[in-house]
Amino acid sequence: MNILLNKAHFPVTVLGPGRRIGLWLQGCTIRCKGCVSQDTWPADPARAMPVKALIDWCKRTSNNELDGVTISGGEPFDQPRPLAALLDGLIAWRAAAGLDFDLLCYSGYPLKTLEQRHAKLLARLDAVIPDPYAAGRPLGGLWRGSDNQTLVPLSSRGTERYASCVDQAQATDAKRMQVSIEDGKLWMIGIPHRGDMAALEDLCRQRGLELKAASWR
Ligand code: SF4
Repeated sequence: MNILLNKAHFPVTVLGPGRRIGLWLQGCTIRCKGCVSQDTWPADPARAMPVKALIDWCKRTSNNELDGVTISGGEPFDQPRPLAALLDGLIAWRAAAGLDFDLLCYSGYPLKTLEQRHAKLLARLDAVIPDPYAAGRPLGGLWRGSDNQTLVPLSSRGTERYASCVDQAQATDAKRMQVSIEDGKLWMIGIPHRGDMAALEDLCRQRGLELKAASWR
C-alpha cells in the first residue's frame, strides 16, 4: 500500500504535546483560502511511498523515544485506505515496542462528516483537530489555526493528554513555529499567527534572502 507524503520530520514540538513525529500527507481537495501549505494540495503521484517504508522511517528516526505522532497535510482523510494502513502500522509498532505515544490527526472536514464517513479511522486515533482553516476568523486555541477549529479527544489516552487543552488559548509569547532547512528548502513547522509569514519574508529580505517560491501565497 502506497501513501502520498509531502514531508516527515522529527522532532516536532509545536503540533501537539511533547516531542513528536510530524507526517504531512500530500493532496488536499478542500483548499481553504489562506492555507499556508498550498504545496500539499496536488495529489502528486511522484510523492507516493510504501506505508511500510514510512513506518520503518518513524521507528528508525525516533529510536522509540517519542511522545506522539501528528498527521497533517494536505488532507489526511482524502487518503482513507493509506491512512488506515499507516495508523494500523503505528498502532502495531506502539503495542509491540510497549510504547505509549498518542496519534493526533488534523482534518479540514467537519467532525460530523468524519464521524459519518470515517468512523473506523477516528477509532484508531487518540485525538483529532477537525474543520477547515478560516482566514477571516481570529486565531484558534492551542495548536489550531482559526477559532472554528476544535480539539476532540477520541480515546482514553487522548482524554488524558488533550482534555485540558481543549479550551486552552495559544499563549502569544509561546514557541509556535520551528524551522528546518532540508534540500535547499526552508520549512516552517507549526501554526503561524496572522502576519507571521509576511513578517518572515520581510526579515529574510532585509538580510538579502529573497524567497523564490512560498507555499503560503
Ligand atoms: S488548511 Fe488544511 S484542509 Fe485547508 S486547504 Fe490547507 S491543507 Fe487543505
